Amino acid sequence: MSKDIDMAVATAAKAFDVESVRADFPVLQRRLQDKRLIYLDSAASAQKPQAVIDAEMDCYRRYYANVHRGLHTLSQECTREFEAARSKAKEFINAPDSREIIFVRGTTEAINLVASSFLAPRLEPGDEILITHLEHHSNIVPWQLLEQRCGAKLRVVPINDQGEIELDSVAELMNERTKLVSVSHVSNTLGTVNPVSDIVTMAKGRGIPVLVDGAQAAPHLPIDVQQLEADFYAFSGHKVYGPTGIGVLYGRYDLLAQMQPYQGGGDMIKRVSFGGTEFAEPPARFEAGTPNIAGAIGLGAAIDYLNSFDRRQVAEHEEALLEYAVERIAQIEGVSLIGKPDKRAGAISFVMAGPHPNDVAMLLDEQGIAVRAGHHCTQPLMESYGVPATVRASVGLYNGYEDIDQLVVGLGKISRMFA
Ligand code: PLP
Repeated sequence: MSKDIDMAVATAAKAFDVESVRADFPVLQRRLQDKRLIYLDSAASAQKPQAVIDAEMDCYRRYYANVHRGLHTLSQECTREFEAARSKAKEFINAPDSREIIFVRGTTEAINLVASSFLAPRLEPGDEILITHLEHHSNIVPWQLLEQRCGAKLRVVPINDQGEIELDSVAELMNERTKLVSVSHVSNTLGTVNPVSDIVTMAKGRGIPVLVDGAQAAPHLPIDVQQLEADFYAFSGHKVYGPTGIGVLYGRYDLLAQMQPYQGGGDMIKRVSFGGTEFAEPPARFEAGTPNIAGAIGLGAAIDYLNSFDRRQVAEHEEALLEYAVERIAQIEGVSLIGKPDKRAGAISFVMAGPHPNDVAMLLDEQGIAVRAGHHCTQPLMESYGVPATVRASVGLYNGYEDIDQLVVGLGKISRMFA
């Protein structure tokens, strides 16, 4: 271990007590294959602290009812908690106004909502949508559907060998036909922290709106949409230690107010008649039907939980942990890291000479270590590195140096098996 890393271990461990964080997560108390469970798959979905589980259960046990317009006590209490969760989400990303927070199922639905309600009506055949080569399929396929539906054209910013976006390439691909830039804040496969702030500035200078896919950033970095000046920002509850089936689309209010609904149904109208229907103002306009009430309340509890830590300290801890992982894993015979971004959050990807990534994941599972193998919903990125799949180890605030050490031991065993 280098001296620098050694120092980082000491500093981070002192400032951040991983064992007490880990104790907040019931599933992490479980033993797997009679070993301490080492969960390194938070990029796929994070585990849930007791506080989130309690908040959801408490909703069902004490005050559950459908939200909005109910005159009885339970409905009013439940509406209060549901709307309080919206305010917490607003604070979490520093949005100016709660009306700019739309509850959706997750990042995927948020991006599809922007594609359908914001972009589709603005597109002429030949207009362009700009994304990058390292996007998750959720930030590729909705735009391909618009290519088919509206005759738009998807333009893709390449990445360099390190797995980074170069701003010159972004500038080259922006032009007067670009109608939206949609870019991930953090890559789910490589962990690259993209220069979203620079990209937003470049796009704004040309009058192009920007959507930021924050699915992998929200769990790791403090988010400030006002500072970022993005028009839309999306994240998923289940990746920020909250429940599944709930997520957030932030949208600038002036844009939301001009947009058509995404779906029609109850709760999104002011008045319905066969002569014509008047839609509600945002956010209700985009939340047709009964929402995921307990999920939203659980997300509020997850945000409270995250806020109980110094988020910068969490980010520093996770960054130091990944640096340590990169350094140690690179020393294992036969392991090649995929991508070497300068700034990384949440995840690293690698392949091993010999075993397929699926075999590596299965052999690690036998040692009580959960990682993910596959294309991570980034097949174009896999193609650009010439690999069908990678092993991805991703961290959350409950991971410590012991987890990485165990991963290194496990990989060492596999490396020797295939030597
Ligand atoms: N974008 C990124 C970068 C992701 O990592 C993911 C999920 O892994 C998504 C979008 C889609 O998120 P969800 O499946 O929660 O809708």
